[in-house]
Amino acid sequence: MAAPVTTATTAKSSARTVPAPERGAATSEQAERTIAPRSAPLAGFSGTRRVPPPVNEPVKSYAPGSPEREALKARLKEMSNERADIPIIIGGKDIRTGAIAHAVMPHDHKHVLADWHKASTAHVLQAVDAARAARAEWSNWAWEDRAAVFLKAAELLATTWRATLNAATMLGQSKTVFQAEIDAACELIDFWRFNPAYAQQLYDEQPLSNNTMWNQLDYRALEGFVYAVTPFNFTSIGGNLPTAPALMGNAVIWKPASTAMLSAYYIVRLLEAAGLPPGVINLVPGDPSEISNVLLSHRELAGVHFTGSTGVFNSMWKTIGANMSQYATYPRIVGETGGKDFILAHPSADRQALAVAIARGGFEYQGQKCSAASRVYIPRSIWPDVRDRIVGMMDDMRMGDPTDFRNFLSAVIDEKAFKKISGYVEDARKNATVVSGGVAKGDEGYYIRPTLVESREPGYRLLCEEIFGPVVTAYVYDDSKWNETLEIIDTTSPYALTGAVFANDRAAVREAAMALRNAAGNFYVNDKPTGAVVGQQPFGGARGSGTNDKAGSKLNLVRWTSARAVKETFSPPLDYTYPFMAEE
Ligand code: NAD
Repeated sequence: MAAPVTTATTAKSSARTVPAPERGAATSEQAERTIAPRSAPLAGFSGTRRVPPPVNEPVKSYAPGSPEREALKARLKEMSNERADIPIIIGGKDIRTGAIAHAVMPHDHKHVLADWHKASTAHVLQAVDAARAARAEWSNWAWEDRAAVFLKAAELLATTWRATLNAATMLGQSKTVFQAEIDAACELIDFWRFNPAYAQQLYDEQPLSNNTMWNQLDYRALEGFVYAVTPFNFTSIGGNLPTAPALMGNAVIWKPASTAMLSAYYIVRLLEAAGLPPGVINLVPGDPSEISNVLLSHRELAGVHFTGSTGVFNSMWKTIGANMSQYATYPRIVGETGGKDFILAHPSADRQALAVAIARGGFEYQGQKCSAASRVYIPRSIWPDVRDRIVGMMDDMRMGDPTDFRNFLSAVIDEKAFKKISGYVEDARKNATVVSGGVAKGDEGYYIRPTLVESREPGYRLLCEEIFGPVVTAYVYDDSKWNETLEIIDTTSPYALTGAVFANDRAAVREAAMALRNAAGNFYVNDKPTGAVVGQQPFGGARGSGTNDKAGSKLNLVRWTSARAVKETFSPPLDYTYPFMAEE
């Protein structure tokens, strides 16, 4: 741990609840009394400080007449009429390159919401310099002061910034108000409140000592920069991936998804408002390959914090492997990737609860959640009833512009996704049965109706591959083939992210939980496999679904610190010999 750098003068000030003085702000009297000069001292409070106990942010209802609905509707209108100009932000400075790309509304893709400036290789290198400069000071801040930045960011997001980030997510990523609220507001607030508490738990962990020695763990930041790469589908992941390493003292270069640029931009502005120092998080949008080529081959790459598809993560890992001899330190590689998430029903399942779980788990946010239910296994005895219930709900689902709050779902993210998902639906028409849905219309917005497919072939590609759209494929099994079905679920997909079992028979729950122990990192009993909450269901999966470092938990924060063990001996030996060396 950092040695105390100041005298009692500073210690006395700890009794008052005043902010820690800035580095270098000590009076000349204090400076004189300092025992020895230090290169990067930061005066701090004495005393063990505790972060406020974290509480999950309540989800607001946005019911007609509610104040939050009014505020959000007003912000949606304003932002729909604006055209934001999103710079690169390096070392706290806005940089406009003139190499422009557009952020559009997926549900109205001719509507441009923002122009964003693309970074070149030179900017990426500039970001490395800015991160290096910021790290020198930030990593030496008292961790409580770093935590305070994110706690304040959480409070800003819960209050004055809530409508802005929700509106950016609704307009730019086509989320309904509820989907935006649980993501851009609640989950991101939770990340920023719970991570400081987890950091505190981690920092509390100290080794054994005794009267002759004091052993301490100094939780250092990684040596170098962390590269955060985020997906389009969760604004909260966009916010968490750069800030979790930053909380632990690291400086970060953040490349957001091009299809979530508006929300990413507002996150950086919010963090600035919360007091994050320049250069701690550098926003570097642009061509992913070009940026990765620079950063993944840089000597100072200390970590990668990625969420996105398995293919992209695998390619990044390969590049890191190929560059191994160039790094100053072994980079920490954290990646949460794809899923092919299942719902398994037992004959004893509650049919209505099961049907609702499939409808919500499969189709909310257009099936574009890594945790979305996309393969369901249902016994023949209950299938006709469950199928009809799901189809009834699907027929009822309104789809359209998310600013019309009556809609349950909206458009998929972009043309590439629209074509890919449509391709799967076409495949189902030829090689399986489209039970309901299957209509795709992309002229105004990238709309695909919720689609239910039935396949008799357990190895059919729609039961194995990640589609990332509103398509659920059902495999109907003979009631007598429960054990074989467990085996099929465990072995047909390379992923292992989320899964659920629906059964009222407790023995069946137990069998499924054990047989599918490695098939999901988040396993649900009588609940849909989506909607993990920070502090309640730490999220992540293994196999092809990632390194399972559980975002929003202590397990994740461990990856962003490099512990130094410090042993201090109070009574060093003064004789080199040992008793065994004496003559008999
Ligand atoms: P994606 O893999 O297309 O993109 C993710 C990020 O990687 C983006 O920022 C993108 O620009 C970047 N990228 C693309 N090519 C790259 C390259 N060659 N080098 C470096 N970066 C590159 O994923 P997406 O479409 O944004 O998100 C959907 C995927 O994310 C799905 O597979 C989903 O399952 C996964 N996801 C997983 C989790 C999880 O927790 N496991 C959570 C959300 C999303």
